[in-house]
Amino acid sequence: MPERLLQVECDKFKEECGVFGIYAPGHNVAQITHYALYALQHRGQESAGIAVSNGNKVDIEKGMGLVSEVLNGRKTRRLKGHLAVGHVRYSTMGSSSLVNAQPLLIRYSRGSLAISHNGNLVNGRQIREQLEQAGSIFQTSTDSEIVAHLIARLGGDLIEDTISQAVTHLQGAYTFVMMTDDKLIGIRDPYGIRPLSLGLLDGCYVLASETCAFDTIGAEFIRDINPGEMVVIDEKGLHTRRFAAEMPLALCIFEFIYFARPDSNIHGRNVHLARRELGKQLARECPVEADIVTGVPDSSISAASGVAEEMGLPYEMGLIKNRYIGRTFIQPSQEIRDLGVKLKLNAVKKVVEGKRIIMVDDSIVRGTTSKQIVQMLRNAGATEVHVRISSPPVVSSCYYGIDTSSTKELLGAYKSIEEIKNIIKADSLGYLSIDGMVSSVGLPVEGFCKACFDKQYIVEPTRGIKKEVFESMKR
Ligand code: SF4
Repeated sequence: MPERLLQVECDKFKEECGVFGIYAPGHNVAQITHYALYALQHRGQESAGIAVSNGNKVDIEKGMGLVSEVLNGRKTRRLKGHLAVGHVRYSTMGSSSLVNAQPLLIRYSRGSLAISHNGNLVNGRQIREQLEQAGSIFQTSTDSEIVAHLIARLGGDLIEDTISQAVTHLQGAYTFVMMTDDKLIGIRDPYGIRPLSLGLLDGCYVLASETCAFDTIGAEFIRDINPGEMVVIDEKGLHTRRFAAEMPLALCIFEFIYFARPDSNIHGRNVHLARRELGKQLARECPVEADIVTGVPDSSISAASGVAEEMGLPYEMGLIKNRYIGRTFIQPSQEIRDLGVKLKLNAVKKVVEGKRIIMVDDSIVRGTTSKQIVQMLRNAGATEVHVRISSPPVVSSCYYGIDTSSTKELLGAYKSIEEIKNIIKADSLGYLSIDGMVSSVGLPVEGFCKACFDKQYIVEPTRGIKKEVFESMKR
């Protein structure tokens, strides 16, 4: 067994990142940004940071850890200015280290540029190689720095012209919240794979990955940033432009299944209500005789309530989560490995003993945690454990900023449902269908990326920077 420390974590897709920005003349915005990042903490727990501008000078605080650890009161109070961008990170590209923490701040001939990025470029490696050939020296291994180098090299009079030109070279999933000395800029990729919303706080514009951040700071939701849209907020107000042709929306459906907070709304659809519908549809598709329904906390509780409602069964708190274990590191040994899930979850014996249980979870990735939870319920006295998953089998990896494990580790990629049922030792196992998932989320327009379920990748890695642009950069 390796001697390194092992983080106690569930067998789940890992969240991406959370971004936030605010332009509020006459106000000091570091504290507001701090509170907004608390609301986005579920999107990334490895690093956090805030960059603030007073119109002339950009200052930054960032570090490894949770928002509460990195941005304590003294650090946030030190930052002064009316313009800010913030970031919470889980490393999908680039290693987990301070140098890769965001916002990324560059100072170049035209001033300062702070970048907060959510997503993953599928042509990032090609562009990085081209930029290195053209003489760029990279300090980090993040996609964000690729964009910074592109912007610095392209030049141009208006920064928004340069940025919109730079992002046309990018392929993949991205939302950016950027800040120059005096402008706030929000960008969403042409397919809208990752979410970005616009809000208003006391007449001042704010941008955030999720609307729950608006609720926390008291801002009002205005609208979602459109795919392929760039908004620029400065002393003249808000300006918008398209930098890419209109494409069909391909929002990551996993935002509704697992990533987003239940109190967030995406494209007008509340995440909790969407999850409850996923649960109801799951109950219709995979009925079973049982006594109670329980959900794996926290992300599966909404879906489990839908299963219970549809089946006419009581929803019970059969599993309790220890909310303070998330960042505990333990020594790996077989006993401690088995203990990992027990540190995070516990079955409520008085609730489950003698009962036939429907255990609802949002997904199965490698199956290791599911097996342990089924065993935990049996040890607590459950007579039957029927596992119901409020999404279809995950059969392929994500290239758009979600850490999904490699395809060979995904149980759904190479095992039948019957085989998975036997591996996790459940009495029965049922997954939601792809059609049932899409109809239950119920966006007004059907426009999802669901490639990890159906392998229909919207953006394939194809090319780097166009040849003529690349040649001009080398000059
Ligand atoms: Fe989301 Fe899956 Fe698409 Fe990745 S492949 S963006 S996780 S739906």
